[in-house]
Amino acid sequence: MRGLQRLPEPQILIDRKVTWLSNFLASGKKRPDSSKYAHNSIKIQLNSISHNKCFYCETKLKGKRKEVDHHIEVSVDKSFSFQWTNLFLSCDNCNNKIPHSTISINDALNPCANTDIEIKEHITFNDEIIEPRNNSQLDLSTIKKYRLDNELLDTRRLKSLKMFYKLIYEIKNNQVIENRNTLTTEELNTIHKFKMPNNSFSLMFDVLIEKYNL
Ligand SMILES: [Zn+2]
Repeated sequence: MRGLQRLPEPQILIDRKVTWLSNFLASGKKRPDSSKYAHNSIKIQLNSISHNKCFYCETKLKGKRKEVDHHIEVSVDKSFSFQWTNLFLSCDNCNNKIPHSTISINDALNPCANTDIEIKEHITFNDEIIEPRNNSQLDLSTIKKYRLDNELLDTRRLKSLKMFYKLIYEIKNNQVIENRNTLTTEELNTIHKFKMPNNSFSLMFDVLIEKYNL
């Protein structure tokens, strides 16, 4: 997870959210129609906010199923069903989360409300394993609510991390061959690309690059 800047509300929501909500409330149904709140134009705008990544776990969604998640669950409050600020882009793994509804959004970090600095005050990484930074309730609830420590994510992060360590290994080799202990600008740029917001699991790389002082 990292801090995201929400873009303007898609026109389709501005035009239709009032009608969609009143129709949904009148229908007596438990869930709103996903063809409305997850309309393609809404997904496109959410995609642009997160560089095509899940808002919660930072998995790249290219070629993967994209889901629109209600941050405040519809079961908690139906009135947020079509509210732009309540719509988050999610991978199917994160959208399928039982603890999501049992932990209030007020007890967890929010990628659309918290900055990278705030998130890093609560979440850290030991290689691919996500850890609470201070074991505070907020640290623990955030990881639990979004299931950021689930095995599938560990595997995805490890795969990404192997590429990073391979690069570091190659750089170290070149340093030995060229008898230097500094990094070239090109090497530094290649390392730092991993923590750019458009990269998968960029917060993990940000934490590791800081940790190893690269
Ligand atoms: Zn996810």
